[in-house]
Amino acid sequence: MHAIVVGAGIAGASTAYELALRGAQVTLIDQREGAGFGTSYANGGQLSACEVAPWAGPEIPWMVLKWLGRDDAPFRLRPKMDPEQWLWLMRFLMRCRASARRERIAPNLELALLTRSRLAAYEREFEQAGMPLDYRRKERGILRIFREEHALAEAEQEAGPLARMGVGQERLTPSECISLEPALASAMQRGDIAGGLYAASDGSGDAHLYSVKIAEGAERLGARFMRNTDVRRLVAEGASVRGVETSQGIIEADAVVLAAGTGTQALLRPFGYRSYIYPVKGYSVTLPAPEGNAPEVSITDEARKIVISRLGDRLRAAGQAEVGGYDMTLEQGRAKSVMDALESLFPQTGPARGEAEYWCGLRPMTPDGSPVLGAVPQFGNLFINSGHGTLGWTLGAGSAAAVADMVCGSAPQLDLSPFSIKRF
Ligand SMILES: Cc1cc2nc3c(=O)[nH]c(=O)nc-3n(C[C@H](O)[C@H](O)[C@H](O)COP(=O)(O)OP(=O)(O)OC[C@H]3O[C@@H](n4cnc5c(N)ncnc54)[C@H](O)[C@@H]3O)c2cc1C
Repeated sequence: MHAIVVGAGIAGASTAYELALRGAQVTLIDQREGAGFGTSYANGGQLSACEVAPWAGPEIPWMVLKWLGRDDAPFRLRPKMDPEQWLWLMRFLMRCRASARRERIAPNLELALLTRSRLAAYEREFEQAGMPLDYRRKERGILRIFREEHALAEAEQEAGPLARMGVGQERLTPSECISLEPALASAMQRGDIAGGLYAASDGSGDAHLYSVKIAEGAERLGARFMRNTDVRRLVAEGASVRGVETSQGIIEADAVVLAAGTGTQALLRPFGYRSYIYPVKGYSVTLPAPEGNAPEVSITDEARKIVISRLGDRLRAAGQAEVGGYDMTLEQGRAKSVMDALESLFPQTGPARGEAEYWCGLRPMTPDGSPVLGAVPQFGNLFINSGHGTLGWTLGAGSAAAVADMVCGSAPQLDLSPFSIKRF
C-alpha cells in the first residue's frame, strides 16, 4: 500500500513514521525545506497530558473584552471579511461553557496518554537502530503557578476530572514551588506566587528537533521525503482520491493523509468540506538559558499567560492567541510582550535579551479544542490528522498512531469517533 502524507510537522512526520512501521510505502511531502518548519518550529515545548482542557471556556469572552486594544493581550480578535473566520468564531463561542470544556477532557487525555507511550516506544526503536531519538526531552514535570489564591482554587477544582482519570496535579505552597524550582525564588520574594499545581508525569521537549528526527526515522524505514514540494490539490475520482497534484507533478497513491496543519482546510475546500480548522497565532521567544539559575521544570505562568520550557542550553517562552486569519507578520510589540513576561518572572533572563530569537506560528485550531482525526466521509481513502491547536506536541504521536491504524485497516488502539470530522 502506498500512502502519501501531506505535511511534515509533528503530526505528519509522526504519521509517516507510524505508517512505515506498519510496512506501508510512504511518501511524505512538505512545501518547506525540511520537517518541522511550520507551527512545530518553536512552540512552547510542553508535553502536557495533565492539562488537555480546551481553551474555549466561560472566561474567554470576558478576557477578550478586558484586554481589548492592548498589545500584550493574551487573546486577541482581528475580524476579517472571511466567512470561515465567522463560522469558526460562532462555534468557538458556543463552546465557551464549562460543560463543553469538560466534555473534551477524556478524549484528549486518551490521545495524550497514547502519545506518551508512542514517544517511549520511538525512543526504544531509535536506540535499537543505534541512533538515539534526542529531542532535548526533560522529564521534570510541569508546574503551573498562580498569582491569586482564588485562581489557584478554581484551577484545582477544574483539574478534578483529570485527577479522577489518574493524572492528578499536586497542589504546592509557594515555598514548595521554590523547593521544586529554585529559579522561581525572586518571583516568590516579590509575592508573585500564591501557589502552584504540579504535574510530575508531564515534561517538555523540542518539537522541531523531534519532527526532523522522526522524519529521518521514517526515511530509514524506507519512506520518501519530498521537501520543497507544494501540494496544490487532491486528485479525486468518484469516491476515492487517486493522489495529489504537486509542484513536482502528480503522485498517485492508495491513501492520502492530510497533516498540513493550517494548510489542511485549503486542500479540502474544493470538495465543499469544512474541517473547522482555523489559524490562531501565537508567539515565542528563545534565548540562551542563564547560567546557574535557569529553570529545569517546565512552567505555566497562569497570570502572565505564558509557558516556559528548558530546551538544552536554551530557554523558550511562548504565549498569546490571535484569531486574525493566515497573516504571518511577526508584530514586534506582541513578540516583545512574551519576552517582557519571561523577564518579569525570571529577571535573570534579562542580560540575554539581545540574543533572543522571536517567532510566531499559526496553531491549527478547531473550535472545541480537539483535533480532526480519521476518514473524510465522502472518500474511502482520504484521512485527516490535523487541527491539534494548542496541543499538537502533547497529542501528535498518539494521533499519528491511531490514524495509521485506520489507514492500514488494523485494529484501532483508540476510538477515533470523538475526533471525527462529522462532529461539526
Ligand atoms: C506559540 C505556540 C506555542 C505552542 N505551545 C505548545 C505546547 O507547549 N505544547 C503543545 O502540545 N502544543 C503547543 N503548540 C501547538 C503545536 O505547536 C501545534 O499544534 C503543532 O505544531 C501542529 O503540528 P502540525 O504538524 O499539525 O502542523 P505544522 O507543524 O504546521 O505542520 C504542517 C506542515 O504542512 C506543510 N504544508 C501545509 N500545506 C501544505 C501544502 N499544500 N503542501 C505541502 N506542505 C504543506 C507545512 O509546511 C508544515 O510543515 C503551540 C503552538 C504555538 C503557535
